[in-house]
Amino acid sequence: MKFAERISRLGTETAFAVSAEAAAYGAQGHTVYPFHLGDMNIPTPENVMEAAVRAMKDGKTGYCPNAGIPKLREVLAADVSASRGVRYGMENVAIQPGGKPTIGKFFQALMNPGDEVLYPSPGYPIYESQIEFLGGIPKPYRYLEGERTFTIDFDMLKRQITPRTRLLVLNDLQNPTGAECSSAEREAMAELVLKHDLFVLCDEAYFDIRYEGHSASFVSLPGMAERCVILYTFSKKFAMTGWRLGASIGPKPVIDIIAKLNVNDESCANHFIQYGAIEGLTGDPRGPRQILRTLQERRDAAVDLLNSVKGVRCQRPNATFYLFPNITDAMRRKGFYDYEDFRRALLHATGVSVCSRIHFGRPLPGETEFYIRLAYSGIHLPAIREGLGKFKAFMQN
Ligand code: PLP
Repeated sequence: MKFAERISRLGTETAFAVSAEAAAYGAQGHTVYPFHLGDMNIPTPENVMEAAVRAMKDGKTGYCPNAGIPKLREVLAADVSASRGVRYGMENVAIQPGGKPTIGKFFQALMNPGDEVLYPSPGYPIYESQIEFLGGIPKPYRYLEGERTFTIDFDMLKRQITPRTRLLVLNDLQNPTGAECSSAEREAMAELVLKHDLFVLCDEAYFDIRYEGHSASFVSLPGMAERCVILYTFSKKFAMTGWRLGASIGPKPVIDIIAKLNVNDESCANHFIQYGAIEGLTGDPRGPRQILRTLQERRDAAVDLLNSVKGVRCQRPNATFYLFPNITDAMRRKGFYDYEDFRRALLHATGVSVCSRIHFGRPLPGETEFYIRLAYSGIHLPAIREGLGKFKAFMQN
């Protein structure tokens, strides 16, 4: 069989392969501690589930408008307007089957073959995959490990800009580092966007997964709402990863094109679950609050345990449900110099399953430190304690 040439450029989310490997190991009767995938083992809030079931029983089981049901577009526009300080209406919202579809549709709408796109590395791997698949030129920018948070390497980012640079991907509240931009970083980025006339994908998948204070959005800066498409998702805030519901939010002309891509790709997002999402946005907020409390408890336990391991250095991000500890010293002491050798040895010795830097885009020249990524959204507190206890014993033995 001869596949289309572009298939050779299609990447993937290799965390799913790690997940399959861990599942196969578990199927042999071993205990697995699943820190690898940003899935959630927390139930969707009861009121959201009830609203979706009610809608299903009420017959909301046919197609619905391609951009989503008007009521959901309206309440989501109001919600995002209030939290970002920007005025969006329903015409600025195209409902999607998850947050992820916004990535490919953004590039399909705005990127021509040969256009250069700035994107974070390490970062969510689908950016790199979709840029290359659709004929763009990937231009990664780095995150640097600081004392308390990772920061964008602006020197590198500026060096990557050429007259062919058209688009920027910004994932503030970042997967995998947990980094949050400072206001100075956001302002510097906005300046570059204006100077080089860029259009921006603002991946705000973790906007509502924060433990203290309030998230700020890049779109709130002067002139940015006109140049940004927000990737919104219900997956994380409402523990709805498997429901597949999200949205693209931005200027009407690009949202109209994204809605037209919906017509071509999936017709519409699942109809009845959109009623669950309306309930999530407008109903009893105790569900999402409890989700955050659960996650915060897990974060604190995991960070404390990781920092108790000799040769491991772990920040305590205030947002996302990921940790990205530097394990260079501990790994070298164990005699590992290859990420995959280390990951497999750890899995087979302890059942602890993690991803590493290489699952988040191609490593950049000059990287010498080793990082793993742990997600604590899909593993209960006792298992976090037990698994990381085994991790510690393995690393220090
Ligand atoms: N963007 C980032 C940075 C993510 O980490 C994820 C999921 O892990 C997504 C987008 C897509 O999530 P979903 O399609 O479940 O909304």
